[in-house]
Amino acid sequence: MSTITLVLTPEDASRLYKTFQDSASPAPQYAEWQLRPENCVITRYRSGKTVFQGKDAEVYAAAFQIAPETTSSPAVSGSVLPQAGSDEVGTGDYFGPVTVCACIVDEKTAPLVQELGVTDSKAMTDANIRKIAPKLIAALPHSLLIVPPEKYNSVHASMNLNAMKSVLHNQAYVHLQDRYGLPGLCVIDQFTPPASYYRYLSGQKRIVRPIHFETKAESSYPAVAAASVIARFAFLSEMDDMSKAYGMEFARGSGAPADACGKQFIQRYGEERLKETAKLHFRNTAKITGR
Ligand code: MG
Repeated sequence: MSTITLVLTPEDASRLYKTFQDSASPAPQYAEWQLRPENCVITRYRSGKTVFQGKDAEVYAAAFQIAPETTSSPAVSGSVLPQAGSDEVGTGDYFGPVTVCACIVDEKTAPLVQELGVTDSKAMTDANIRKIAPKLIAALPHSLLIVPPEKYNSVHASMNLNAMKSVLHNQAYVHLQDRYGLPGLCVIDQFTPPASYYRYLSGQKRIVRPIHFETKAESSYPAVAAASVIARFAFLSEMDDMSKAYGMEFARGSGAPADACGKQFIQRYGEERLKETAKLHFRNTAKITGR
């Protein structure tokens, strides 16, 4: 456990908040907000102090301890072609794999991507994804990584989720580089500050640089939007296979329907086999097993 206290500018504080806003939790007294990403509690006080506490405090604080000009990427336009982009799917779903895709969009394929209406995969229906993704898969140079639940559980035992995502995105770019070469612009839909991303990669043999990091990148960069659609398609296909293999439907997300599916699964296959279909570190596991 370590504790790091930084005085952040309002801009840095809001950048930090936006990056991890999915993990926001009720703010304690005298605090503006509190975030609880994996292995860390980050509290922003009204005094301007921001406190990072927990096993990975250093990792989260790292991005804000060095000069701001090295952490924020220069402004880049989404219309620059060719461009590579990457995104991941499944990290918020209790059941199913995590999928990561990196792909390249160039002058020739950009019109197709636009024509297919690939803008925001989150706003697209599953049916639409199933229809459009095969066309993107056929047309775009891409690299797709699928981490099934059992593999995810064993990797997660020694690596937190952001570390795992960093390794997967980097790996997808390494494959893309080997197969097709990389364009000058590579964009990651940002899930962690750049300094943390590179710190997580410190043990890797090859680290692809430079990368442009941007939150909500799928709405500005066609390559990120396309990668997101392909990753979601792969996720859906894996879920289909799981449904066939176990003879039951698996709920998306991590809410009450996922709990209900978990209970049903345990009744049929036993608790021991939950690791084959679910990400065990989610709170759902405790709810389902009653422990
Ligand atoms: Mg994303």
